[in-house]
Amino acid sequence: MDNNFDVIVIGSGPGGYVAAIRAAQLGFKTAIIEKYDKLGGCCTNVGCIPAKALLDSTELFHLANSKFNEHGINTPGVMLNFPQLMKRKSEVVRQNANGVAFLMKKNKIEIIHGIASFLSSSQLQVTQKDSSAIMLGSKYFIIATGSKPSTLPGITIDKKRIITSTEALSLQEKPASMVIIGGGVIGVEMASIYARIGVKVTILEFMNSLIPTMDNDLGKELKKILAKVGVESLLNHQVKSVINKGNEVEVTFLNEVKAEQTITADYCLVAVGRTSFTQGLGLENTSVKTDSRGKIVVNENLQTTVKGIFAIGDVIDGPMLAHKGEEEGVYVAEYIKGQKPHIDYRLIPSVVYTWPEVASVGSTEDELKKNKIPYNQGKFPFSASGRARAAMEADGFVKVLTDPKYGEVLGVHIIGPRAADLIAQAVIGMHFETTDEDMTRLSYAHPTYSEALKEAYLIASGQGALNL
Ligand code: FAD
Ligand code: NAD
Repeated sequence: MDNNFDVIVIGSGPGGYVAAIRAAQLGFKTAIIEKYDKLGGCCTNVGCIPAKALLDSTELFHLANSKFNEHGINTPGVMLNFPQLMKRKSEVVRQNANGVAFLMKKNKIEIIHGIASFLSSSQLQVTQKDSSAIMLGSKYFIIATGSKPSTLPGITIDKKRIITSTEALSLQEKPASMVIIGGGVIGVEMASIYARIGVKVTILEFMNSLIPTMDNDLGKELKKILAKVGVESLLNHQVKSVINKGNEVEVTFLNEVKAEQTITADYCLVAVGRTSFTQGLGLENTSVKTDSRGKIVVNENLQTTVKGIFAIGDVIDGPMLAHKGEEEGVYVAEYIKGQKPHIDYRLIPSVVYTWPEVASVGSTEDELKKNKIPYNQGKFPFSASGRARAAMEADGFVKVLTDPKYGEVLGVHIIGPRAADLIAQAVIGMHFETTDEDMTRLSYAHPTYSEALKEAYLIASGQGALNL
């Protein structure tokens, strides 16, 4: 192997592997370095993909038990096969990780397994499994080393009873109960998975809303929806300590009136955010700077404080989302090729894969209020949608926020069936700076969930809904 490359990407998650593919497509001699045997990073192996596999399986189980009878399908004695649930998930992960390896080979990208560590700003050492080291040189380096779960002061994750999402996605047996610290994205997705199969789930959230970074109305509605599958969401609760008692955990917290309380459960899942990961990367041997939160500092071109070293994805600032890392991977490859790429961070959608799903793009109502930006609101409930009633999917709503003067769409927030896919049309509309009226002049197939968006735009534009 010739150890000199044009581009070396460190980390094979969605940021890294997409950066490598784009670099190879643009003619760069490219290598990707991954410390684990499987490619794909957090997203493929312990994040997006396994979580979605378990969300899909458990939603089917829940539907069979909760809605099939009403549809006229009698399925007495539907049983859960927990080991099979996990086995299918692992198979989905395996296929996706192999898919990433296939893409690397197809694009003639050199795959090197081992821990990458900078010896200087232009030299990288990779320590392989057998402890042997290889030296690599490159014109450009792209750091895409991702993130790891955070914890709270005083809480030690032992991976046995006090766990992170990684362990929660691979439990050996169905637990009876689980306490989840944090009602953010991981908290509510994992709560959905386990509550649907009959686990007693309690979420302890520090803020006054679930998914607190999204529009407030979404969190309120989601709390009600999760309660229907038995999730108890305790808001304004601050966890003080978690103790592994052998067969159970004891979680102590201050409740909403600051009184100390304790609950026990089989497991405590700590889901209080993730921290950028740069351990072992040897940044101290370079002039690459990190900020107070450990994130690699980059400029508007995703260039670190060293000219030839770029960083993308969870290891830098911004939302920790697979598609954000992918956009950045493409950006860096095109930038070093001399092209003029662009990322509109305002239009990166956020999705929560509960059922119904939650999806958002643009400004929340709180942000508009805080910045004293006037807005019109159009809100349409799925209970008024013929398609949703036919499918027994009437929970949730679409909320659009638009500029009162010109009608420009400022934000779209959906909680409802297939919200994850519906949000794409809002992203397209906002990219082309369409107005609420433009969005009402388009034909929406009937009956579809997307009609709820048209109705919300009709309300926001002042024309009035046709079906409410
Ligand atoms: P990562 O995917 O973290 O990949 C980094 C890679 O770098 C890893 O493979 C690591 O082993 C490797 N690495 C680190 N250091 C070195 C080194 N020194 N040498 C060699 N290799 C190294 N996002 C979404 O958009 N949608 C979702 O549905 C979603 N679901 C999620 C569910 C869960 C449970 C979790 C935990 C996360 C989820 N995310 C989701 C977030 C998403 O997984 C991350 O935003 C994404 O994986 C970040 O990509 P990345 O390329 O920056 O890093
Ligand atoms: P998060 O930031 O979404 O949520 C963490 C939650 O923990 C917040 O609601 C916060 O208020 C709460 N919290 C913090 N300290 C607390 C305390 N002491 N007691 C109780 N609650 C406390 O983080 P996450 O859910 O761990 O997810 C990590 C990252 O992974 C996120 O950035 C997310 O973007 C990504 N992710 C994305 C998806 C998706 O796109 N569907 C799914 C899973 C994870």
